[in-house]
Amino acid sequence: MLNRSNSESLFATAQNYFPGGVNSPVRAFKSVGGSPLFIEKGEGCKLTDVDGNTFIDFCCSWGPLILGHANPAVVEKVNQTVANGMSFGAPTKLENELADLILSNHNYIERIRFVNSGTEAAMSAIRLARGYTGRDKIIKFEGCYHGHVDALLVSAGSGLVTLGNSSSAGVPDGTVQDTIVLPLNNKEALEQAVAEYKNQIAAIALEPIPANNGLLLQDKEFLLFLREICDREGILLFFDEVISGFRVGFEGAAGYYGIQPDLIAFGKIIGGGMPVGAYASSKEVMDNVAPLGPVYQAGTLSGNPVAMAAGIAQLTECLKPGFYDELEMKTSIFCREITQYAEKRGYNFSMPHIGSIYWIAFTKDKIQAASQIKSESMDNFKKLHAALLDRGVYIGPSGYEVGFISEAHTDNDLNDAVEAFQEALDVVFS
Ligand SMILES: *Cc1c(COP(=O)(O)O)cnc(C)c1O
Repeated sequence: MLNRSNSESLFATAQNYFPGGVNSPVRAFKSVGGSPLFIEKGEGCKLTDVDGNTFIDFCCSWGPLILGHANPAVVEKVNQTVANGMSFGAPTKLENELADLILSNHNYIERIRFVNSGTEAAMSAIRLARGYTGRDKIIKFEGCYHGHVDALLVSAGSGLVTLGNSSSAGVPDGTVQDTIVLPLNNKEALEQAVAEYKNQIAAIALEPIPANNGLLLQDKEFLLFLREICDREGILLFFDEVISGFRVGFEGAAGYYGIQPDLIAFGKIIGGGMPVGAYASSKEVMDNVAPLGPVYQAGTLSGNPVAMAAGIAQLTECLKPGFYDELEMKTSIFCREITQYAEKRGYNFSMPHIGSIYWIAFTKDKIQAASQIKSESMDNFKKLHAALLDRGVYIGPSGYEVGFISEAHTDNDLNDAVEAFQEALDVVFS
């Protein structure tokens, strides 16, 4: 059994400081039980906790670390930059450099605005969509997460087309009354909603690769249908690519599927492990943002030089030829070796994956909507999570979350992890 005594004692102390002992809820291990591990250090694909346990990490800070921990190029660039001051509240050329790196290699956007988190990016993109179209309503999908933005913290009601119910206390009904929540992968619901709210919908928001509530891979046909509806109805198509951006390819899901969205939000990978988000669009749409246009949005630390430096260093690596192909190949081999084993043993298990994102599903059904996920399967996840920790593999502590493979995961690391997964599955199904 894993010795977590130092983590347990730090977690007990943290209870005196933070609600639930953490600064973001999913870190608390609430759905898997036990104390969260306090991390001492990360190197490559490995994490070391404060009790000296080492793990192969598939959480990768929930997605940002596509090069793994403490990548030397990123660390060097950050160190060079930080020595010259941490923030100026005035422009630096690093902002130009990161923007140029992105815009000249991403064919779906022309202008970008850096912010400090994915939440901020999604919030700002929604405001821009509303400001640009002069409409108030937005459509979102059940099972897509867009950060803790008031208007997007909504869950579906009981009908096919429903106005959202707030999924958090503290969000006024008035704030969510303009949010329409639909099931994913359902054309009929979408047609019904756009008919019912004709000329009132500013944007259709979605994770084109929904990866915050399982991995709910959509058919390309459904995404194309969204594009069509948006064109027909004068609605902006908003891809929240906070996970998928720079992950399934440099051009994210837009490039992967070859679909032109009207707005894109970025986060996670874009900051190389530092707090960066961004929203981007055509010049025409982005010219509506202050100081050029009437849509106000600002940030004291936006475009922070140290954060820009980390983003530049990380995305430079991502642009190297073959980078994404290799990640995708490693991921599909990893998933295949685990699922083939499960198959042989007759376990009800699968690993949907795309690019270097995978999900652990305790079913063989194709899951494309949030409502298809059975909450009982989370008991199996809990057992798997514990068995993996005991075997030196760290995955995000929730069965609804996806896992990530980084450039730093070597074939040897992945072979070790495959073995750990196989043993852990035996424990779950024994
Ligand atoms: C993580 C995430 C967010 C929120 O980003 P934060 O940096 O945590 O605020 C928004 N949208 C998607 C798709 C995400 O995965």
